Order: sequence, then structure tokens, then C-alpha cells
Amino acid sequence: MDTADIAQAERAGHPARSVAFVTLGCAKNEVDTAAMERRALAAGYRLEDDPALADAIVVNTCSFIQSATEESIEAVLDAAGLPSVAEGRARLIVAGCMPARYGDELAAELPEAAAFVPCSREDDIAAVLDGALGVERAGAAPEPGAGEARPAGAFGYVKISDGCDRWCSYCAIPLIRGRYRSFSYEQVRADVARLVEAGAGEVDLIAQDTGRWGADFDEPLDLAWLVDALAREFPDTWLRVLYLQPEGVTDELLAVMARHPNVCPYLDIPLQHVSERVLRAMNRRGSRAAFEALVGRVRAALPDVTLRTTLIAGFPGETDEEFDELLSFVEEGLFDYVGVFAYSREEGTAAFDLPGQVDDDERAERAQRLRDAADAASSPLIAARVGREAFVLVEGAEEDGQLYGRAQCQAPEVDGVTYLDAGEPGRIVRARITDTLLYEMEGEVL
Ligand code: SF4
Repeated sequence: MDTADIAQAERAGHPARSVAFVTLGCAKNEVDTAAMERRALAAGYRLEDDPALADAIVVNTCSFIQSATEESIEAVLDAAGLPSVAEGRARLIVAGCMPARYGDELAAELPEAAAFVPCSREDDIAAVLDGALGVERAGAAPEPGAGEARPAGAFGYVKISDGCDRWCSYCAIPLIRGRYRSFSYEQVRADVARLVEAGAGEVDLIAQDTGRWGADFDEPLDLAWLVDALAREFPDTWLRVLYLQPEGVTDELLAVMARHPNVCPYLDIPLQHVSERVLRAMNRRGSRAAFEALVGRVRAALPDVTLRTTLIAGFPGETDEEFDELLSFVEEGLFDYVGVFAYSREEGTAAFDLPGQVDDDERAERAQRLRDAADAASSPLIAARVGREAFVLVEGAEEDGQLYGRAQCQAPEVDGVTYLDAGEPGRIVRARITDTLLYEMEGEVL
């Protein structure tokens, strides 16, 4: 513990204890962890990277599908098995989606945990840590200020809302995260500003359903307004919108994207399926023809747009013909990137009891066939970028010194990277794409 930590702890009114956060799941959970870290820092706790050395370990869990729940349980049990926890020197706290979804059931299953913090109570993390570690404090812990944050990497995520009202029949998120709630412009702006000040060159706007932002305000606003306002306010920062349901792709949003060079011409539109019957059973709208028209409308407005989607294979009742329809849609190559998930049967969701559940092996096989088709369809689209110029945000260097970054057509963590022959981490460079290998690109800095 250095003197700055001690001084901060003393200002906060107690000796500095350390806390390690372990995060499972998606980018939304990473944002939630960052917010809890800021609250812990403001309350005088010190962040410890190694859980084995921390006084408290917070495992921020994911449980939107069964495999994620299993992974989260494993992480909790790993933490519970650390000598510091097993011998009672450190406290284990389970946060996030798993306590939100399983509530009291979990307390009986995991007696090793000192506390459970569902998503809706994460703002109370300082009080939970105080309680678990026996820290006495006069009054409530201080709210985090601008200084309480880890340094940002080349990019960061900002959540613009939480919850979801769509009730897709396969999805447990509305059960876990509750009703849709947009965050205010002031909050979103402050979160973006914090990342920019900490060095991020790109900020990705995320939510369960980004396209609904602002619709629940007393005086409704919309995503096009938000992106326009942020693009003007942060003209040197790339902005990217992820998780945009098809209904959220408005002409106004496309116009804003076309107007601002710092808004990545990139859309991540989860379609999940293209068969009308399957979509209705999923409690979703659309059809193959409607989605093809949507892609046409987007490409007309943004000729250089990069498109990503996600699809589900093996939904209950999916016939061979319906699967073939989905497969042939993927083979059309309308999307540069396609994420594929095998359907996961989730308790508490409407699809759990649907007839015609497809068996596990068949679901996995269908998912793999879609992935292979997506790779085959995407390869030529990515290879066609050779010879083009692109701006690339330099992110860092591999162990052997090889620099890499991401072009605007590559979203973080999912679309591969661009290897570069020059550049400085955190800077945006202009490069010519010289080669591609499936999803990875190589570029020569101009
Ligand atoms: S839009 Fe559908 S899949 Fe996405 S979080 Fe909401 S209910 Fe789940």
C-alpha cells in the first residue's frame, strides 16, 4: 500500500482495505464493474489485481444463458477456494446477473459468499464492502468524483441504458435487468468525458437495446439526437453504436452517422433469425425480405458501412426448411461479421416450454454450419479491403513488438485487429490495407 492509498483511505475514514474485481460476461458487465470500482475507490478501498492478495473479492457474474451461469459458478468457486477466503482472511462477494436471476436460491448454494449484490444494488457496493469487512464509517461513503477511475485503454464502453422491455421469448435479460431505463444525457456525456480524459480514442455506446434510448423520458429524445450531440461534443473521439435492434435503424440515425466522420460507419444489428414463423415464436418482428430491405436502406445511406449481426440456431420448432432459409441468408453475404449462438433453453423464459425443442447435438451442429457459412461469406468481403485506405486506432503491441490496432470497420473484441508497421498506442493513423487473413488485416501506415 503506498502513501497515496493510505492518505485516500484516511480521508475516507478507515484504513485502506483492498478489493479485487473479477468480471464475467459481456461488455455491459465490464461497465458495471468499472462503476463499482469507482465507488470502491471513492470509499477509500484500494484496487488489487490479484484476487489472492485482496481483502475482498467481488465476482461480477453473468447468467444470461446456462453456459455463462456455469462459468460464473466456476469463478465463484475458484475464488472461494483461495486460501485467503477459505481461511477467513478475505471476504467473497457475488454480484451481478446471477444473484439477480437466482436470488435466495443462490445463498443456500454458495455459503462461502459473505454477500450477494444483484445488478439493482450495485450502487451500494461500498456499503456492502464495509459490512463484509467490518469497516465502520461515519455516514455514507463518498460518491465517486472524476478522479476515481482506472486509466482507460484505447477504447472504452459507455452504457446508455439498462434493462429491456422486448421480452424476446428465449431471453432471460428482462428477468435479470428489469424494465428499460435510459440514462440521462448528462450521465452519458460525463461517462464519455471520463474515458476521453483517461485516454480512450474510441467510445462504444452499449445497452441491451441502444435504439430505444430516450423514448422513456418525460420529453422523449432519440438515439440520433444522442449520437449527434456526443459527436459534436467529442469531435476527436470515435463513437460506435452497438446492439441496435432492427427497429432502431432510423433514417435520422443514418443521417447523423453519415454527417460525422468520428461516428464509425458500423452497425451491429442482431437479427437472430430470418424465418417469419421463427421470428414470431421468438416474439420478434421482421422477415428475410424486411431485413434485406433494411440492409439496402443502410447501404444506400452509408455506402462504406460495415455490418454485424447475431443469429440463433436451433430455436424450438426450427424445421430443416427454416434452418436452410437462415443458412442461405448467411450465404448471401449481406453482413461482414456474423455471430452465431446455439439456442440455450433458459428457465423462466417463454421459449422454455415451447414444443419441438431441438436436441443439443443438433443445435450445436446447426450453429457450426452457420459459422462455417459466415466465414466463407465474410472472407471475400474482408479481402476486398486490400488496397483501401483506413484510419486505424493503434491499441498496443504484441509481446514480440508487433503493433496492432482497429480500423473503424472493426469493433473491439469481436472483429479481429489490424496489424501495423508503425504507430503509437492511443493514436489514430492512416494506413493502406495490404493483406487480410480471414478477419485479421495488415496495414502499412501512410
Ligand atoms: S432485445 Fe430481446 S434478446 Fe435483447 S436483451 Fe431484450 S429481450 Fe433479450
